[in-house]
Amino acid sequence: MKRAVISGAAGFIASHLCDRMLERGWEVVGLDNLVTGSAANVDHLAGHPGFRLIRHDVSQPFQVDGGVDYVLHFASPASPVDFPTLPIQIVKVGTLGTHNMLGLARAKRARFLLASTSEVYGDPLVHPQPESYWGNVNPIGPRGCYDEGKRCAEAFTMAYHRAHGLDTRIMRIFNSYGERMRLDDGRVIPNFFGQALRGEPLTVYGDGSQTRSLCYVDDLVAGALAVLEGPDAMPFNIGSQDEVTMLELAKLVRRMADSSSEIEFRPLPEDDPRQRRPDTTRAREILGWEPRTPLAEGLRRTLEYFQATALA
Ligand code: NAD
Ligand code: UDP
Repeated sequence: MKRAVISGAAGFIASHLCDRMLERGWEVVGLDNLVTGSAANVDHLAGHPGFRLIRHDVSQPFQVDGGVDYVLHFASPASPVDFPTLPIQIVKVGTLGTHNMLGLARAKRARFLLASTSEVYGDPLVHPQPESYWGNVNPIGPRGCYDEGKRCAEAFTMAYHRAHGLDTRIMRIFNSYGERMRLDDGRVIPNFFGQALRGEPLTVYGDGSQTRSLCYVDDLVAGALAVLEGPDAMPFNIGSQDEVTMLELAKLVRRMADSSSEIEFRPLPEDDPRQRRPDTTRAREILGWEPRTPLAEGLRRTLEYFQATALA
């Protein structure tokens, strides 16, 4: 039986990963300080003999008894609304947190997986973005804490790989969405759905012509496991080709939620990337991974979740 330690376990993405790993019969130790996550995301696992959630800030060192096969580092606030309020915690979890989780992996001779991000490409000058692109990041802007924290996390991971021969994997996650996102998370999908369901105006930033490519969480988690179990230490983009403008997305959400909300234009946040879509050739060719869920289907399931639980 495999044993995994995963940071950020009570968050949106990692809680789904916990489910998938437990379904495989693995034992899972989850770490989370609940800064942006919620214990409710793993409530259904309470009493599961293979699962344990430990409240811990991974910017502090962590030790655990027994063998560990995999260390997955998913802890980090990830919503741009957190960047102005939690910048120090974000830099710390990207740098010190990554160092601590790498140290754990090294001590246990475990394989390490880093949840990196498309933000390492910043406001990209190349479109779509291949893994070979070095990015266009403003280190001192409001997104610098997150973007540079993750870039340092990748550098730390490669340093451990090269200096200590640690078995490492890096996935660059592009915008993902689905069940267990917090309605007040601040990212675009929960914002638009919450606003549409409450009959409030949908807040489109800028003129809404900026694009994102949206990946449903089940596909993303399948991609994470493919990277983890795959053969290659170099980064993989994991994300969808479903690229939409934010204005198109607002109209789609409004239609799906059967809402008569207005669309309200708000100022574009500083350094907001203009366009984003992954080149996922590497993941397809090396891992055989591709997203399967069409945007309309993923959004329908997410809407049901927000209707059934978050607004209950
Ligand atoms: P999330 O906020 O739902 O989950 C992050 C979890 O990490 C939360 O439960 C939070 O409490 C925990 N956490 C934060 N700092 C911590 C610390 N110091 N110690 C312990 N726990 C800590 O966000 P998410 O969308 O699930 O993101 C998960 C990971 O995926 C993050 O590393 C994020 O950067 C990355 N990512 C996500 C997306 C996306 O679209 N969702 C895109 C790119 C990268
Ligand atoms: N956005 C928007 N309205 C909102 C929230 C976000 O128009 O209420 C836009 C934001 O400006 C960005 C895109 O949606 O261009 C995605 O934002 P999100 O916060 O989800 O993540 P990002 O990809 O910027 O990290």
